[in-house]
Amino acid sequence: MEDTLSLESKLPDVGTTIFSVMSALAQEHNALNLSQGFPDFPVSPELIDRIHYWMKQGANQYAPMPGLPALRQQIAKKCSDAYNHHFDADQHITVTPGGTAALYAAIVAVIRQGEEVIVIEPAYDSYAPAIRLNGGIPVPIGLRKSDFKVDWQKVAAAISDNTRMIIINTPHNPTGSILLQEDLEQLATIIREKDIFILSDEVYEHIIFDGEPHQSVLAHAELREKSMAVFSFGKTFHATGWKTGYVVAPAYLTKEIRKVHQFMVFSVNTPLQFALADYLQEPKNYQSLPAFYQQKRDLFQQLVKPSRFQIVPCKGTYFQLLSYKQISDLPDTEMAEWLTKEHKLASIPISVFFSDKRQDSVLRFCFAKSDETLQKAAEILCKI
Ligand code: PMP
Ligand code: GLN
Repeated sequence: MEDTLSLESKLPDVGTTIFSVMSALAQEHNALNLSQGFPDFPVSPELIDRIHYWMKQGANQYAPMPGLPALRQQIAKKCSDAYNHHFDADQHITVTPGGTAALYAAIVAVIRQGEEVIVIEPAYDSYAPAIRLNGGIPVPIGLRKSDFKVDWQKVAAAISDNTRMIIINTPHNPTGSILLQEDLEQLATIIREKDIFILSDEVYEHIIFDGEPHQSVLAHAELREKSMAVFSFGKTFHATGWKTGYVVAPAYLTKEIRKVHQFMVFSVNTPLQFALADYLQEPKNYQSLPAFYQQKRDLFQQLVKPSRFQIVPCKGTYFQLLSYKQISDLPDTEMAEWLTKEHKLASIPISVFFSDKRQDSVLRFCFAKSDETLQKAAEILCKI
């Protein structure tokens, strides 16, 4: 028998994330897994060859703490070209082990005991625990039920003297909605002359459809001075398991983010950074993403159209929401479980991304899958 010491959990209400739960359920029931967001097609062989090359070259020891200079320079160039502003590799860019770690470092760097962070829900599930672990208080604001857009009046009304940060996410996981230029203008207006930072989760920056431009805080002269923008190579290069990303922020914020980063992980996988620096030299390696994923979105929507599920408009990300209001009044967690067990198709219930577990009767399906997988999934949906 083990002796146990008393330990009061810092996150007593937090269990295993829905992504692990649904992927495990999919495996247990041999179901098609459109739940956790990851592609089922291969990473570019050229990129893999570059990693192999750099490993054989001996690039196997610690990389510099803020990230390999060659990679930060490529990122700086990419951001400068895309957002029409000069970003500096040394002052503004830090390479992190994935987007989640970048979000965490940004929150730790800024948030103190009792400070409030406005979180727009449904929200990626790492935000609130990261805020709470640092003594902060998440203040949830729901996206509008009708169209999953941000109600900026509600956000403005939630700002108090304790508000220190607002977290935004565009393109938005799990709804597939995007922020427009006018959204950023409203955000800039409501935080003007207030000590409020923006944490902008832009990991799906290149997965955006119908010719819409990605509205980054980095392109907004006023917002970029108070923002930390988070990106993930996992999403951009179909390699979620590599856990490599970066955060772009003004020099005074980057300095503080790096203090956290250096003691959280110190540095990121070296051969991968060399390989990514090479691969980023060719912009079409990421500029081809919107068309690539739009074809998948369109195919999945076309295949699901004859079903009784209703398609919620998807403007970005590789997630499609389907409403089952006309089919069942089960709560979405039960609906997702039933679909997995009885029909061998796993999805994500979105109520888990709301602190009040709001029910919208929609499930999230990841369409970063081969056309064959999408066809099989749609066949299942059309039978229900
Ligand atoms: N933010 C959002 C909205 C995401 O969907 C993800 C992907 N899981 C992340 C951040 C984290 O990215 P990474 O896998 O690079 O940590
Ligand atoms: N971001 C991915 C999703 O939304 C999964 C992240 C994870 O598994 N932690 O499905």
